[in-house]
Amino acid sequence: MESGGLRVNEGFLLGPQIRSSDEGSAVDLKGNVKFYRLSAPEAVEMLQTDSQRGLMPADVEARQAAFGLNQIPAVRGQGPWLRFLLQFHAPLVYILLVAVLVTAWLEEWVDAGVILGVVIVNAIIGFIQESSAAKALAALAQTTVTEATVLRGGQMRRMPSVELVPGDVVCLQSGDKVPADMRLIQCRDLQVDESALTGESVPVSKQIAALTAGEVGLADRQNLVFTSTLVTYGQARAVVCATGSRTEVGKISRLMSGADALETPLTRKISAFSRLLLVAILSLACLTFVVGWARGQSPVEMFMAAVALSVAAIPEGLPAVVTITLSIGVARMARRKAIIRKLPAVETLGSTTVICSDKTGTLTVNQMTVSEIFAGDALYQVSGSGYDPAGEIQNVAAKGLEFADNQAAQDCLLAGMLCNDSALEQKAGRWEVHGDPTEGALLTSAAKAGLASDDDIVRLKRLDVIPFESQHQYMATLHDGGGDARPKLLVKGAVEVVLGKSTDRMLPDGSPGPLDTAELLQQVNRMAAKGLRVLAFASAKLPHGTASVNHVDVKELTFLGLQGMLDPPRPEAIRAVQACQAAGIQVKMITGDHAMTAQAIAGQLGLRGPDEDDGAGPTVLTGSELSQQSDGELAETVERVAVFARVSPEQKLRLVRALQSRGYVAAMTGDGVNDAPALKQADIGVAMGIAGTEVAKEAADMVLTDDNFATIAAAVEEGRGVFDNLTKFFVWVLPVNMGEGLVILAAVLSGTTFPIYPVQILWINMCTSVLLGLMLAFEPKEQDLMERPPRDPDTPILTGTLILRMLMVAFIMLMGAFGSFNWALGQGYSEDVARTVAVNVFVIVEMFYLFTCRSLTKSMFSLGLFSNRWMILGVTLMLVLQMAFTYTPLMNFFFHSEPIGWDAWWRILLTAVAVYVIVEVEKWGRRRWSRQRPNGGTGTRRRRSQQPFSQTQGANS
Ligand code: ATP
Repeated sequence: MESGGLRVNEGFLLGPQIRSSDEGSAVDLKGNVKFYRLSAPEAVEMLQTDSQRGLMPADVEARQAAFGLNQIPAVRGQGPWLRFLLQFHAPLVYILLVAVLVTAWLEEWVDAGVILGVVIVNAIIGFIQESSAAKALAALAQTTVTEATVLRGGQMRRMPSVELVPGDVVCLQSGDKVPADMRLIQCRDLQVDESALTGESVPVSKQIAALTAGEVGLADRQNLVFTSTLVTYGQARAVVCATGSRTEVGKISRLMSGADALETPLTRKISAFSRLLLVAILSLACLTFVVGWARGQSPVEMFMAAVALSVAAIPEGLPAVVTITLSIGVARMARRKAIIRKLPAVETLGSTTVICSDKTGTLTVNQMTVSEIFAGDALYQVSGSGYDPAGEIQNVAAKGLEFADNQAAQDCLLAGMLCNDSALEQKAGRWEVHGDPTEGALLTSAAKAGLASDDDIVRLKRLDVIPFESQHQYMATLHDGGGDARPKLLVKGAVEVVLGKSTDRMLPDGSPGPLDTAELLQQVNRMAAKGLRVLAFASAKLPHGTASVNHVDVKELTFLGLQGMLDPPRPEAIRAVQACQAAGIQVKMITGDHAMTAQAIAGQLGLRGPDEDDGAGPTVLTGSELSQQSDGELAETVERVAVFARVSPEQKLRLVRALQSRGYVAAMTGDGVNDAPALKQADIGVAMGIAGTEVAKEAADMVLTDDNFATIAAAVEEGRGVFDNLTKFFVWVLPVNMGEGLVILAAVLSGTTFPIYPVQILWINMCTSVLLGLMLAFEPKEQDLMERPPRDPDTPILTGTLILRMLMVAFIMLMGAFGSFNWALGQGYSEDVARTVAVNVFVIVEMFYLFTCRSLTKSMFSLGLFSNRWMILGVTLMLVLQMAFTYTPLMNFFFHSEPIGWDAWWRILLTAVAVYVIVEVEKWGRRRWSRQRPNGGTGTRRRRSQQPFSQTQGANS
């Protein structure tokens, strides 16, 4: 397989003359260019582009016309016909098809036709439901568009990756997803995770030299990067050599981020349960058949009994309803700005017991404004709000040094402005930031100081940069000193880090002075205690001729000053934290910021550990304290403490594991490359849609499109709602199957004729599960949903109480149907009339029971009679169908039914009302009983059964 699907003879790209005969040739026999054989300039020339300016608009247009969009066509999965045929690939359908054959052989044409019809209708419904659920999920997967930083016409722009064409010059940095197959032309410590393509899980180092000797396999092409792989470290500039289906991934036609299969642990469990049930029922049916035959009953009748039993007792619609309910949950979450990437997450969300959240931007508004500056021994206050450059810098002390006369303060703001990758833009009168909000705030403060950005940028041209990464906690830029001056290094970052690298400080007159660390830390603590985010600034002069910098060069700095910025908590996050804590979900703040800033913000959010009261601020544990604790100690601390500050991404992983070792179901947020392992390890990895890197998004189960903590709480609420509705569906559907099975069994055992025929059972099951049961998926969330403790994922869905209720309803159904059937026969009605009465007992009881299932604990009236309009619609349609079943000659012909009179109806209604009243009385009794118990009957369980720490390692990865 060759890299770079571009062919030399393809259209207008006429590269230089390239050797094509020998082994080290840059062109293979089919004319494909082997870009890894070419030097970087040769590759640029071959692709007719400019490494400094990129492609021109006219070139882009021509290439877009020639090469199309940079997208890999979706994998051609199973075609619609195959997917339709697969609907018949289910044990229950096999039984029904055998039933069709046997009834046809017996020349019971109507029965054979009806059963066949039902099988086909069932397949059509299954096909439609499956396709729409899959489509909805696939559409959601597409919502997160991958973007690339591209150089076109001399300007750097972010644009959707699909717009790339061969020859485009792309800038890569850690966290990016590689948007196309590219030849590297500049590269700085680049490491790429190519596991998506080669399966190799360790990131590969890249370089730009040409590979001229021998055969070079895909994994060894170090000067190429491939589409869909992830940049885990460093930076690079590369030129696109293949797009779309011409890329390596495109060639093997594997789409990396497609929607997941519609399978979750729950659907798998249900399918396994259905299979088990089938085997049990078939054995029972065979036994019935043999016993009945031995007792002299007709084999045909016994065969039909076996079929009826199987059809009756197997909840065939269950997996489909679970998938549909889950996908409705996914859609609801998407409306609330949480995009689910992996379907099982919907299930897990409902059982979340702890949410670990970043602070900046998730719990806070991320609208930063510098409000205090400390530099050259003077403290200044900055007025104005947001990114609007209108505002003033004023001296706090009465006779303090004016800002304009303080060289250190001027340099501190200049460093903030130049050591900066963001930009401000005024849109419709509002100032917005492009890039990191922390950096945006520094541009605003510099503008308030009247620093002429353009002049300074031209004069102090940037030569090199060490970008900000969480693990280093600083950013540095190297600048031309202007004129004969030495190159200047500007550094900004976390106070501890910058101070640690500084040896002296700048005095107000610009001369160097001794560093007074104690006084500086006092200032930092004072600002941080107010909740300000404090950044420190420093500079250094490097030897003449220095053109690049590395981490080792960032030392012996001159400290310039501090800038403290406001980033208040999000009001909605304050409410969400409260809601989570009331719901028995602990919230932990895990931040890279300063301990005191974190504590102040946590206090404003009302965030506290389980044993802390509201009065004192929450306890904070710092990353360095955390690193001194053993795994056992950490597991104990992590339960107690709610705020973790100056935590590195690696420590986040330890924290999740510690929580999991204590049995917590943990959701964890993250945005950077190094957060990926923690996101994978967490039960729910949550990535930020706006500020998050592609690497973090790939690793996450859920992406927040608004980066907001409140959205996680909303998703948890939706997750609980989904589970609640699923439980209601199980509680509703299973007694029906049980009741039908019992009726058939009772008939066989008592040697009477069937009170319901298999075709009638099929009628009941098909119509009611779609028109009645499915409507429970649309049931609005109950109001106390977030007041309940989280669900333990290890406990069964159906509790003893619910199982008892279901058995009770199944028994009443049996008595009602069997009793009414015998009553009708006793009244001299025909068997068909008696069966029609029995069928109506099932359907009408199901309708009434459906209303009680709208809440497992509360009465329907407290929910609002019309709050689920879908249910009203479903019940009305079902009534119409049932009337047709009973009174229209056509349906009478197909389903062996007959019109019934009022004497039958009031019995049917009485049974249905009895079910409703009995279940409601049972719920009322339990409500009273649980109110009398001290814990309200629910307890305050916070976690699932504990696992040893070692078992949590590697889980979920
Ligand atoms: P959180 O982890 O809650 O998102 P955070 O943004 O403070 O908070 P990091 O991004 O890990 O966490 O940053 C750690 C520290 O690095 C910050 O407290 C700040 O002092 C410093 N810092 C943040 N952004 C920059 C930046 N763009 N340039 C230089 N230093 C920065």
